Amino acid sequence: MAFIVKNDGFVCDYCGAVNPPGVGTCRNHCFKCLCSQHVDNTSPGDRASTCHGKMIPVSVLSGSRKSDYVLLHVCEKCGKEMKNRVLPDDDFEAILAISQKHIYG
Ligand SMILES: [Zn+2]
Ligand SMILES: [Zn+2]
Repeated sequence: MAFIVKNDGFVCDYCGAVNPPGVGTCRNHCFKCLCSQHVDNTSPGDRASTCHGKMIPVSVLSGSRKSDYVLLHVCEKCGKEMKNRVLPDDDFEAILAISQKHIYG
C-alpha cells in the first residue's frame, strides 16, 4: 500500500522511507527521495491513471510565491509530466540536488 492521496502517511515503494501524513495538504511524493507514482491522470488526487509508473523528480520550479517550490515529476513509463508542490518537510538536500541540475522560472 503506497501513495494514498488522502492525507495519510505511506511507505515509499522506492526508498522505503516511512512518510508521515502531509502537513495541511495531501502528500503525493516521498519526502526523502521525492519520487512519486503515476496514479493521477489530469488533476492531483483523481486516481484516474492506470499507468502506475515511477514518477521521477527532474527539476524544481519556483512557484508564484517566493517560498513556493514545485517539483516537476516525469513518469519513467509513459513520460507524463506532473507538477507537485514541495512540502515543508520534504528533504531539503534532495530538493537542492535537483535544483542544482535544473532550475526554471
Ligand atoms: Zn522515497
Ligand atoms: Zn505514466
